[in-house]
Amino acid sequence: MNDDQLLRYSRHILLPQIGIEGQERIVAARVLVVGAGGLGSPAAYYLASAGVGTLVLADGDTVDLTNLQRQILHTTGAVGHPKAESGRDTLAHINPECRVVPLVERLAGDRLDAEVAAADLVLDCCDNFATRHAVNRACVARGKPLVSGAAIRFDGQVAVFDPREADGPCYNCLFPEGQEAEEVRCAVMGVFAPLTGMIGTVQAAEALKLLAGIGRSLAGRLLLLDGLSMEWREIRVPRDPACPVCSRRGA
Ligand SMILES: [Zn+2]
Repeated sequence: MNDDQLLRYSRHILLPQIGIEGQERIVAARVLVVGAGGLGSPAAYYLASAGVGTLVLADGDTVDLTNLQRQILHTTGAVGHPKAESGRDTLAHINPECRVVPLVERLAGDRLDAEVAAADLVLDCCDNFATRHAVNRACVARGKPLVSGAAIRFDGQVAVFDPREADGPCYNCLFPEGQEAEEVRCAVMGVFAPLTGMIGTVQAAEALKLLAGIGRSLAGRLLLLDGLSMEWREIRVPRDPACPVCSRRGA
């Protein structure tokens, strides 16, 4: 790191758990954020400000006026522009040291697999089950830690799935594909604005911890937030030995 970086990240470097070594890991990292909406916004803010070297921001949507209530990466002037590019522009003002790669697409198939393979860590900040399962499959296949978040109405949840851990569950162990409750979308159901900030910020914290190699991650645990009563609950998530996505791993 150069002198400017040492200053910029000094309050991280002062933390004995992070120090120069941990910050250097963060600076060297490439992180894929799938979704630049309510969760991706705060997550990307903190990942970029905290010095992640390369942030790949993938979102096929354009900014809509109804997004601005909670999707804080985007400004009124960005309405009608691709979210990935709007996010890049905002993050460049916060930290020009962070290289943001905007992907104006809904990642799937080979493109998704290639981006997961190239990343050190993946954040699932999307809003639909199909993408969540596709991202999970790619992370299991490529052995990449996945920080998963969701927020709807006043309810939030966040978990880490780390295929590098022998007994670690994957997203599909917890929410088997095809058994989901009916998809509820923000467009119909509404979402409390700061809830997305709280969950997205936990995702950023877990990502930075994993990158720096510090603390205890949320792997194997699901945190549930009831924003109306402001209560967090924790559920242990066991690995499903019959999970079709991760069960053959290491066999
Ligand atoms: Zn699984």
